Amino acid sequence: MMLAGKVLIITGASSGIGAAAAELFAAEGAALVLGARRAELLAALADRLADSGAKVAVQAGDVRDESYAADLVDLAERRFGGLDGAFNNAGIVGELGPLENMAAENWHEVLATNLTSAFFAAKAQIPASRRRGGGSIVFTSSFVGSTIGLPGMAAYAASKAGLVGLTQVLAAEHGPDDIRVNALLPGGTRTEMAGNDPQVLQRIEHMHALKRMATPDEIARAAFFLLSDQSSFVTGSALIADGGNSICKT
Ligand code: NAD
Repeated sequence: MMLAGKVLIITGASSGIGAAAAELFAAEGAALVLGARRAELLAALADRLADSGAKVAVQAGDVRDESYAADLVDLAERRFGGLDGAFNNAGIVGELGPLENMAAENWHEVLATNLTSAFFAAKAQIPASRRRGGGSIVFTSSFVGSTIGLPGMAAYAASKAGLVGLTQVLAAEHGPDDIRVNALLPGGTRTEMAGNDPQVLQRIEHMHALKRMATPDEIARAAFFLLSDQSSFVTGSALIADGGNSICKT
Protein backbone atom coordinates (compact mmCIF):
# COMPACT_ATOMS: atom_id res chain seq x y z
CA MET A 1 0.00 0.00 0.00
CA MET A 2 2.66 2.50 -1.02
CA LEU A 3 0.13 5.16 -2.03
CA ALA A 4 -2.00 4.94 1.13
CA GLY A 5 -3.27 8.36 2.15
CA LYS A 6 -2.45 9.95 -1.21
CA VAL A 7 -5.01 11.66 -3.42
CA LEU A 8 -4.13 11.42 -7.10
CA ILE A 9 -5.62 12.64 -10.37
CA ILE A 10 -5.30 10.44 -13.48
CA THR A 11 -6.33 11.78 -16.90
CA GLY A 12 -6.88 9.53 -19.88
CA ALA A 13 -8.13 6.97 -17.38
CA SER A 14 -10.79 5.43 -19.64
CA SER A 15 -8.35 3.10 -21.44
CA GLY A 16 -4.78 1.95 -21.94
CA ILE A 17 -2.04 3.24 -19.64
CA GLY A 18 -4.41 5.49 -17.65
CA ALA A 19 -6.85 2.66 -16.88
CA ALA A 20 -3.97 0.37 -15.86
CA ALA A 21 -2.65 3.15 -13.60
CA ALA A 22 -6.08 3.51 -11.99
CA GLU A 23 -6.13 -0.22 -11.16
CA LEU A 24 -2.58 -0.17 -9.77
CA PHE A 25 -2.82 3.09 -7.80
CA ALA A 26 -6.13 1.98 -6.24
CA ALA A 27 -4.59 -1.35 -5.24
CA GLU A 28 -1.76 0.62 -3.63
CA GLY A 29 -4.24 2.55 -1.49
CA ALA A 30 -4.60 5.91 -3.28
CA ALA A 31 -7.86 7.85 -3.45
CA LEU A 32 -8.40 8.65 -7.12
CA VAL A 33 -9.96 11.34 -9.26
CA LEU A 34 -10.31 9.87 -12.75
CA GLY A 35 -10.76 11.94 -15.89
CA ALA A 36 -11.21 11.23 -19.61
CA ARG A 37 -13.78 12.01 -22.30
CA ARG A 38 -15.72 8.72 -22.31
CA ALA A 39 -18.06 8.96 -19.32
CA GLU A 40 -19.46 5.40 -19.54
CA LEU A 41 -16.02 3.78 -19.54
CA LEU A 42 -14.94 5.95 -16.63
CA ALA A 43 -18.06 5.08 -14.64
CA ALA A 44 -17.59 1.34 -15.28
CA LEU A 45 -13.96 1.53 -14.14
CA ALA A 46 -14.90 3.52 -11.05
CA ASP A 47 -17.62 1.01 -10.12
CA ARG A 48 -15.14 -1.87 -10.46
CA LEU A 49 -12.56 -0.12 -8.28
CA ALA A 50 -15.13 0.95 -5.69
CA ASP A 51 -16.36 -2.66 -5.46
CA SER A 52 -12.88 -3.64 -4.31
CA GLY A 53 -12.91 -0.93 -1.68
CA ALA A 54 -11.15 1.94 -3.47
CA LYS A 55 -12.06 5.61 -3.00
CA VAL A 56 -12.82 6.91 -6.49
CA ALA A 57 -14.41 10.02 -7.98
CA VAL A 58 -14.85 10.56 -11.72
CA GLN A 59 -15.48 13.55 -13.91
CA ALA A 60 -15.62 13.28 -17.68
CA GLY A 61 -14.31 16.20 -19.70
CA ASP A 62 -11.85 17.46 -22.27
CA VAL A 63 -8.26 18.22 -21.25
CA ARG A 64 -8.17 20.96 -23.89
CA ASP A 65 -10.44 23.01 -21.60
CA GLU A 66 -8.65 25.01 -18.92
CA SER A 67 -11.71 24.81 -16.65
CA TYR A 68 -11.64 20.99 -16.75
CA ALA A 69 -8.16 20.93 -15.18
CA ALA A 70 -9.42 23.17 -12.39
CA ASP A 71 -12.57 21.03 -11.95
CA LEU A 72 -10.50 17.87 -11.39
CA VAL A 73 -8.39 19.59 -8.72
CA ASP A 74 -11.51 21.02 -7.12
CA LEU A 75 -13.06 17.54 -7.00
CA ALA A 76 -9.93 16.10 -5.34
CA GLU A 77 -9.98 18.80 -2.68
CA ARG A 78 -13.73 18.69 -2.04
CA ARG A 79 -14.11 14.91 -2.02
CA PHE A 80 -10.80 13.81 -0.53
CA GLY A 81 -9.41 16.88 1.23
CA GLY A 82 -6.42 17.75 -0.96
CA LEU A 83 -4.17 16.74 -3.84
CA ASP A 84 -0.88 14.83 -3.58
CA GLY A 85 -0.17 14.19 -7.21
CA ALA A 86 -1.34 13.84 -10.78
CA PHE A 87 -0.66 11.52 -13.68
CA ASN A 88 -1.38 13.82 -16.64
CA ASN A 89 -1.64 11.09 -19.21
CA ALA A 90 -4.40 11.86 -21.74
CA GLY A 91 -3.08 12.14 -25.26
CA ILE A 92 -3.68 11.56 -28.96
CA VAL A 93 -1.45 10.76 -31.92
CA GLY A 94 -3.47 12.77 -34.44
CA GLU A 95 -3.17 12.27 -38.19
CA LEU A 96 0.04 10.70 -39.40
CA GLY A 97 1.85 11.85 -42.53
CA PRO A 98 4.46 14.19 -43.98
CA LEU A 99 4.45 17.66 -42.48
CA GLU A 100 3.93 19.42 -45.82
CA ASN A 101 0.53 17.66 -46.11
CA MET A 102 -0.49 18.23 -42.52
CA ALA A 103 -3.51 20.45 -41.91
CA ALA A 104 -3.02 23.22 -39.38
CA GLU A 105 -6.13 21.90 -37.57
CA ASN A 106 -4.35 18.62 -36.85
CA TRP A 107 -1.26 20.44 -35.59
CA HIS A 108 -3.36 22.62 -33.28
CA GLU A 109 -5.47 19.70 -32.02
CA VAL A 110 -2.46 17.54 -31.15
CA LEU A 111 -0.62 20.41 -29.44
CA ALA A 112 -3.77 21.41 -27.53
CA THR A 113 -4.47 17.86 -26.33
CA ASN A 114 -0.93 16.80 -25.48
CA LEU A 115 0.91 20.00 -24.52
CA THR A 116 -1.40 22.93 -23.78
CA SER A 117 -3.39 20.56 -21.56
CA ALA A 118 -0.25 20.12 -19.45
CA PHE A 119 0.02 23.89 -19.03
CA PHE A 120 -3.62 23.99 -17.83
CA ALA A 121 -3.05 20.98 -15.56
CA ALA A 122 0.04 22.50 -13.96
CA LYS A 123 -1.71 25.86 -13.43
CA ALA A 124 -4.39 24.10 -11.38
CA GLN A 125 -2.26 21.41 -9.73
CA ILE A 126 0.72 23.51 -8.54
CA PRO A 127 -1.28 25.76 -6.18
CA ALA A 128 -3.18 22.70 -4.84
CA SER A 129 0.11 20.87 -4.25
CA ARG A 130 1.46 23.93 -2.45
CA ARG A 131 -1.64 24.02 -0.24
CA ARG A 132 -0.88 20.38 0.62
CA GLY A 133 2.79 21.13 1.41
CA GLY A 134 4.24 19.28 -1.61
CA GLY A 135 3.38 16.80 -4.33
CA SER A 136 4.35 14.88 -7.44
CA ILE A 137 3.24 15.80 -10.96
CA VAL A 138 3.87 13.48 -13.91
CA PHE A 139 3.36 14.12 -17.63
CA THR A 140 3.22 11.28 -20.14
CA SER A 141 5.70 12.15 -22.86
CA SER A 142 7.02 9.55 -25.34
CA PHE A 143 10.10 8.02 -26.90
CA VAL A 144 8.84 9.72 -30.07
CA GLY A 145 10.32 13.21 -30.16
CA SER A 146 12.81 12.66 -27.35
CA THR A 147 14.99 9.72 -28.32
CA ILE A 148 13.92 9.09 -31.91
CA GLY A 149 12.38 10.95 -34.85
CA LEU A 150 9.67 8.85 -36.47
CA PRO A 151 8.60 10.05 -39.94
CA GLY A 152 4.97 11.19 -40.10
CA MET A 153 4.69 12.14 -36.43
CA ALA A 154 5.78 15.79 -36.43
CA ALA A 155 2.93 17.22 -34.35
CA TYR A 156 2.98 14.35 -31.86
CA ALA A 157 6.78 14.51 -31.48
CA ALA A 158 6.75 18.29 -31.00
CA SER A 159 4.05 18.04 -28.35
CA LYS A 160 5.79 15.25 -26.44
CA ALA A 161 9.22 16.94 -26.59
CA GLY A 162 7.56 20.11 -25.32
CA LEU A 163 6.44 18.24 -22.21
CA VAL A 164 10.07 17.52 -21.31
CA GLY A 165 10.95 21.23 -21.44
CA LEU A 166 7.86 22.12 -19.42
CA THR A 167 8.79 19.46 -16.86
CA GLN A 168 12.29 20.87 -16.38
CA VAL A 169 11.08 24.43 -15.82
CA LEU A 170 8.29 23.44 -13.43
CA ALA A 171 10.66 21.20 -11.45
CA ALA A 172 13.10 24.09 -11.04
CA GLU A 173 10.36 26.60 -10.20
CA HIS A 174 8.66 24.41 -7.59
CA GLY A 175 11.44 22.34 -6.07
CA PRO A 176 11.53 24.80 -3.13
CA ASP A 177 7.82 24.01 -2.55
CA ASP A 178 8.67 20.27 -2.36
CA ILE A 179 6.71 19.73 -5.56
CA ARG A 180 8.39 17.20 -7.84
CA VAL A 181 7.68 17.27 -11.58
CA ASN A 182 8.73 14.51 -13.97
CA ALA A 183 8.06 13.31 -17.50
CA LEU A 184 7.53 9.63 -18.26
CA LEU A 185 8.71 8.38 -21.66
CA PRO A 186 7.04 5.06 -22.47
CA GLY A 187 8.14 2.92 -25.38
CA GLY A 188 5.58 1.28 -27.66
CA THR A 189 2.68 0.09 -25.52
CA ARG A 190 -0.21 -2.21 -26.45
CA THR A 191 -3.18 0.16 -26.20
CA GLU A 192 -5.88 1.56 -28.49
CA MET A 193 -3.39 4.22 -29.55
CA ALA A 194 -1.01 1.64 -31.03
CA GLY A 195 -3.87 0.12 -33.08
CA ASN A 196 -4.12 -3.54 -34.09
CA ASP A 197 -2.49 -3.84 -37.50
CA PRO A 198 -0.24 -6.92 -37.08
CA GLN A 199 2.42 -5.61 -39.49
CA VAL A 200 2.67 -2.24 -37.74
CA LEU A 201 2.77 -3.86 -34.33
CA GLN A 202 5.52 -6.22 -35.44
CA ARG A 203 7.57 -3.29 -36.76
CA ILE A 204 7.14 -1.43 -33.45
CA GLU A 205 8.09 -4.53 -31.45
CA HIS A 206 11.29 -4.88 -33.42
CA MET A 207 12.36 -1.30 -32.56
CA HIS A 208 12.79 -2.32 -28.91
CA ALA A 209 15.78 -4.13 -27.43
CA LEU A 210 13.31 -6.44 -25.68
CA LYS A 211 11.67 -7.17 -29.08
CA ARG A 212 8.19 -6.63 -27.70
CA MET A 213 5.86 -3.82 -26.70
CA ALA A 214 4.98 -2.91 -23.11
CA THR A 215 1.75 -3.88 -21.44
CA PRO A 216 -0.13 -0.83 -20.08
CA ASP A 217 0.58 -2.10 -16.57
CA GLU A 218 4.36 -2.00 -17.13
CA ILE A 219 4.12 1.72 -17.92
CA ALA A 220 1.70 2.31 -15.04
CA ARG A 221 4.33 0.86 -12.70
CA ALA A 222 6.88 3.45 -13.85
CA ALA A 223 4.29 6.19 -13.18
CA PHE A 224 3.63 4.60 -9.79
CA PHE A 225 7.32 4.98 -8.93
CA LEU A 226 7.24 8.68 -9.83
CA LEU A 227 4.05 9.32 -7.83
CA SER A 228 5.17 7.38 -4.76
CA ASP A 229 7.66 8.46 -2.13
CA GLN A 230 10.08 5.89 -3.56
CA SER A 231 11.14 8.62 -6.02
CA SER A 232 11.48 11.34 -3.38
CA PHE A 233 14.76 12.67 -4.87
CA VAL A 234 13.69 12.40 -8.51
CA THR A 235 12.55 15.65 -10.10
CA GLY A 236 12.98 17.32 -13.49
CA SER A 237 13.71 13.95 -15.05
CA ALA A 238 12.57 12.34 -18.28
CA LEU A 239 12.19 8.76 -17.08
CA ILE A 240 12.62 6.34 -19.96
CA ALA A 241 10.57 3.14 -19.70
CA ASP A 242 10.99 2.07 -23.31
CA GLY A 243 12.15 -1.54 -23.42
CA GLY A 244 15.47 -0.34 -24.82
CA ASN A 245 13.90 1.42 -27.80
CA SER A 246 16.22 4.41 -27.44
CA ILE A 247 19.43 2.36 -27.45
CA CYS A 248 18.49 -0.29 -30.00
CA LYS A 249 19.88 -0.14 -33.53
CA THR A 250 19.40 -3.81 -34.43
P1 NAD B 1 -5.24 5.34 -25.22
O1 NAD B 1 -5.75 5.87 -26.52
O2 NAD B 1 -5.73 4.02 -24.75
O3 NAD B 1 -5.50 6.39 -24.05
C1 NAD B 1 -5.57 7.77 -24.25
C2 NAD B 1 -6.51 8.34 -23.22
O4 NAD B 1 -6.53 9.78 -23.36
C3 NAD B 1 -7.94 7.86 -23.38
O5 NAD B 1 -8.50 7.65 -22.11
C4 NAD B 1 -8.62 9.04 -24.07
O6 NAD B 1 -9.99 9.10 -23.81
C5 NAD B 1 -7.88 10.20 -23.40
N1 NAD B 1 -8.01 11.44 -24.15
C6 NAD B 1 -7.60 11.69 -25.42
N2 NAD B 1 -7.90 12.96 -25.75
C7 NAD B 1 -8.50 13.51 -24.68
C8 NAD B 1 -9.06 14.78 -24.41
N3 NAD B 1 -9.06 15.77 -25.31
N4 NAD B 1 -9.60 15.01 -23.19
C9 NAD B 1 -9.63 14.02 -22.24
N5 NAD B 1 -9.12 12.81 -22.45
C10 NAD B 1 -8.58 12.55 -23.66
O7 NAD B 1 -3.67 5.34 -25.39
P2 NAD B 1 -2.47 5.15 -24.34
O8 NAD B 1 -1.40 4.48 -25.10
O9 NAD B 1 -2.93 4.60 -23.07
O10 NAD B 1 -2.03 6.68 -24.15
C11 NAD B 1 -1.75 7.27 -22.88
C12 NAD B 1 -0.59 8.23 -23.03
O11 NAD B 1 0.60 7.49 -23.32
C13 NAD B 1 -0.75 9.24 -24.16
O12 NAD B 1 -0.34 10.51 -23.72
C14 NAD B 1 0.20 8.72 -25.23
O13 NAD B 1 0.65 9.74 -26.08
C15 NAD B 1 1.29 8.13 -24.37
N6 NAD B 1 2.16 7.14 -25.03
C16 NAD B 1 1.61 6.01 -25.60
C17 NAD B 1 2.46 5.11 -26.24
C18 NAD B 1 1.92 3.85 -26.89
O14 NAD B 1 2.69 3.17 -27.63
N7 NAD B 1 0.68 3.45 -26.66
C19 NAD B 1 3.85 5.34 -26.27
C20 NAD B 1 4.37 6.48 -25.67
C21 NAD B 1 3.50 7.38 -25.05
